[in-house]
Order: sequence, then structure tokens, then C-alpha cells
Amino acid sequence: MSDCVFCKIVAGQIPSTRVYEDEHTVAFMDIGHVNPGHTLVAVKKHADNLYALDDVQAAAVARTSARVARAIRDAFKPEGLSVYQANGKPAGQTVFHYHLHLLPRYAGDGMELTWPVKNPPREKLEAYAAQIRAKLA
Ligand code: AMP
Ligand code: ZN
Repeated sequence: MSDCVFCKIVAGQIPSTRVYEDEHTVAFMDIGHVNPGHTLVAVKKHADNLYALDDVQAAAVARTSARVARAIRDAFKPEGLSVYQANGKPAGQTVFHYHLHLLPRYAGDGMELTWPVKNPPREKLEAYAAQIRAKLA
């Protein structure tokens, strides 16, 4: 995609600070950098979001994420590491080329994610699961 910032990074048309790449993925420093080592893992071939990944891309993202996460752990010794991935504006996506964040975490680092837990009854969970299973079939 000609106007996609991450396609431009993949193509080397704009600068990035890379830590890893393979046939299907590239990992580079997030320019916004919440904590030292904050890295993005993106697919090389443009895909808007998680829904658009093919199986090869999905597998490659998982492999690269685990590999780079271990390197971040060993390099920075963070207290934790969050994996964050947004699909669609309401979910917080701002760059519409698939990527996930590997974000080293520390107590009190200011990252807040509130989970408004609903704890629905088991019957509700069964009904929701049936809706998803029907689409997987
Ligand atoms: P999101 O779509 O919410 O996952 O956020 C996109 C992320 O991409 C933000 O954290 C930005 O800081 C980061 N970002 C945007 N442009 C660049 C760039 N040229 N190089 C590195 N990171 C970028
Ligand atoms: Zn793109």
C-alpha cells in the first residue's frame, strides 16, 4: 500500500530501527517508546489487521514475537511484558498495517488497561461460544 507508513518501513523508504527480520515479519523500535525496548512486530506483506493475516503470516508473527520477547527480557530484565495488539479505531489501532507491541512493563509505569469484568453466568458463556463455533465450522 503506497500510503502505508509500515509498508514504507518494510520497503526501507522511511527510517526504522530494526532488531529482527525474517521472510514474513520485521521487528523494530516503536517510535513512541513507552518503556525502553518497546518493540513492534509487523508483517512484511500488507495486511490491515489480525483478520487479514493468512496462516503463514500468523505463524510467523507468533514465532517472531516469542523470539524477540525473550531477547527483550534478557536485555532489559523488565518486571513484566505486555503484548498489545489493536484492530480497528475503537480498539485503539492508529496504524492500519498489522503489528503487535512487545512492551516491557514495570510496576507504576503508567500503562493502565481497565477490564470492566462482567462475570456472566455459564449459560451466557455457552451461548457466546456457540456463536463463535458456528462461524469456525
Ligand atoms: P497502534 O496502531 O495503536 O498499535 O499504534 C501504532 C504504533 O506505531 C504507535 O505506538 C506509534 O508510536 C508507532 N509508530 C507510528 N509510526 C511509526 C514509525 N514511523 N516508526 C516506529 N513506530 C511508529
Ligand atoms: Zn502496509
